[in-house]
Amino acid sequence: MRDFSAGHELLSINTATVRKQWPLDRIIDECARRNVRAISPWRDQVATVGLAKIARQLKETGIVLSGYCRGGFFPAADAAGRLAALEDNRRAVDEALMLGAPCLVLVVGSLPGALTGSPAYCDISRARGEVRDGIGAALEYARQAGMPLAIEPLHPMQAADRACVNTLEQALDLCDELDRGGSGALGVAVDLYHVWWDPKLEAQIARAGTERLLAYHVSDWLLPTRDLLNDRGMMGDGVIELKKCRRWVEEAGFSGFSEVEIFSETWWQKPGGDVLDTCIERHMRVV
Ligand code: ZN
Repeated sequence: MRDFSAGHELLSINTATVRKQWPLDRIIDECARRNVRAISPWRDQVATVGLAKIARQLKETGIVLSGYCRGGFFPAADAAGRLAALEDNRRAVDEALMLGAPCLVLVVGSLPGALTGSPAYCDISRARGEVRDGIGAALEYARQAGMPLAIEPLHPMQAADRACVNTLEQALDLCDELDRGGSGALGVAVDLYHVWWDPKLEAQIARAGTERLLAYHVSDWLLPTRDLLNDRGMMGDGVIELKKCRRWVEEAGFSGFSEVEIFSETWWQKPGGDVLDTCIERHMRVV
């Protein structure tokens, strides 16, 4: 198992972690000042500052990406909506390429319209079918572009509105169905916040192997968790066995960055510098 205690060379910061404090260009500068070598930015953050500007800044600072967030949200009420989603995913692939991302992370979506409280339909198996077809179509484009797609299973509490793929096993089944033989074009993002509870986690991480493990996200599960989306814990403040899980992914062959991704109203209210410093310290000590 890699030693994280002496430095933070293998730490990546998912830029949602400090998105309420700073725009992305400032986040990159603050990461560079702290010798953080990798980030994973979100499309809306990139768009606000400008894609070309961010690409230039990454080059200047030498900071690389551990992933690009995000594509997905494939299901829609009708064919026009599904086509629009596919086109949006193609644009996301193009952006990921321009930023030199190792993969585009997919939050696959579920009942269309559920995010705003009024789903167009309630048939989750239909949503799963649309997700499968959507990933399949996006994969054709991504494969030609040379941009791997990483399916991120989300905690089942988000099954209605954000993702109808909720376990690593389900994500890997999709990979096997759509990318037989494992070309490296399709894999998974293992976000411990979403999958730590899964009794099959260890076995499914081993099943994924180097070929499919494209990204690894860490935070912690707080007791109590007060918000379904924005109450993630800082590593060490909750119940996830971070080191044990990291051993599993590394034994499966994962050698990439360990990405800190904390959506938290609590941490968004603290000074951004304190948040980054805490991420670095906890990453060395408890991840
Ligand atoms: Zn994640």
